Amino acid sequence: MPLGVSSNFRYWGEDKTIYVKRAKGARIWDIDDNEYVDYRLAYGPTILGYADARVDEAARQGIEIGGVFALATELEFEVADRIGKMVPTAELVRFSNSGTEAVMAALRVARAYSGKDGHIVVEGGYHGIFNEVLWYSDVEKWKPEDGDPQVLPSGEGVPGIIKPLFHSVPLNDANALEDILKKHADDIGAFLVEPIMGNCCSVTATREYMQDVRSLCDKYNVVLIIDEVKTGFRVAKGGVQELLGIRADLCTFAKAVANGYPLSVVAGREEIMRKFGDGVVHGGTFTGHSVSLSAAKRTLEILDETDALANVEKYGRDLQAGLHKILAPRDIPHCFVGHPSMIGLFFSDVAPNNYRDWVNTDYQFYDALAPELHELGILVEPDSREPWFICEAHDVKCLEETLDKFETAVDITLNMLPSERRKISTA
Ligand code: PLP
Repeated sequence: MPLGVSSNFRYWGEDKTIYVKRAKGARIWDIDDNEYVDYRLAYGPTILGYADARVDEAARQGIEIGGVFALATELEFEVADRIGKMVPTAELVRFSNSGTEAVMAALRVARAYSGKDGHIVVEGGYHGIFNEVLWYSDVEKWKPEDGDPQVLPSGEGVPGIIKPLFHSVPLNDANALEDILKKHADDIGAFLVEPIMGNCCSVTATREYMQDVRSLCDKYNVVLIIDEVKTGFRVAKGGVQELLGIRADLCTFAKAVANGYPLSVVAGREEIMRKFGDGVVHGGTFTGHSVSLSAAKRTLEILDETDALANVEKYGRDLQAGLHKILAPRDIPHCFVGHPSMIGLFFSDVAPNNYRDWVNTDYQFYDALAPELHELGILVEPDSREPWFICEAHDVKCLEETLDKFETAVDITLNMLPSERRKISTA
């Protein structure tokens, strides 16, 4: 196995790569029996907790149904019905397995509906591993006086022939979006946006920006795709669309929909969704697996009918208050962005408005802090661009342990920094 892992993102270096033995609730144990309170939660799917007994019992019932059949099941309808109830935009629903597949399907159907092949994404966003979205804005080496950051392929093997279809804009800048739309109105069919950027430390769109986005998409005949792969069934029952009072034309879900069982969703306006099966290809051998669907049915029932998401939010708020109490007396500039269920922690006084602003935060402090937290048994993403995820199983014990260890890790990190940087950090 190249690098000894199944995903490049799981390789943390020769000595630091973690292999999991098991997980339960909000905790993970590695193969050396180290225990961690986990705030990565598999990049978000675990909304209730690992190995949640209620969901796992439903998954076992799903096994009894038999798996996949190259035929449809009633379960699909039941889950689709619940999604439609929770997310008003989801007039029709199609299932896939991964977030990548759902976003790929959304872009394809948007191209078919609009008759235009180009698309715009937001700088710093991540939408999966397929060629149309595997481009990034190189802000790390960028200076404002240079104009827009360079757009580069995310690694080798991404065909350059696709680049003319790809455009990017900074979040929260409606003028930049309109400029591109004016120039390329005849070529751009979709705007793909994650209003709470789950791969850019939860930098968040304002309500006003999203209203402008909605109007601009309508004005220029562009399909608005809201990628809720991370925010869906996490930040609110109806996702970020409910939170910000916005309706997409299409939206995508994955992660939390089945508490970690592989299932994804593309959903949206009937008029667009009907193109599936009327010209647009969609399918897949493992699509609609009975284990995942059964797990999703139970997960969504719990999220819709209990206080689970309110509990997640409360823990997130308590965690932020506790972290603030540790950072403030040490004069470490910091701020929280996003939603308490997926917390962006920045080391700067001012919350970033977009990915370009992230460069001005003290992410080097985060980069030094994260490995210390790991050593102490608190698992956060080593990359400062990933938020801290909360699940319902995070409890008071997790909170106390986290705050205790966070305080220790901050002091170790401060002591490690060269004295001139330490002065800047605590200025
Ligand atoms: N869209 C967003 C917003 C994501 O965060 C991700 C994954 O992290 C994807 C799409 C791709 O999902 P998957 O990894 O399930 O293919």
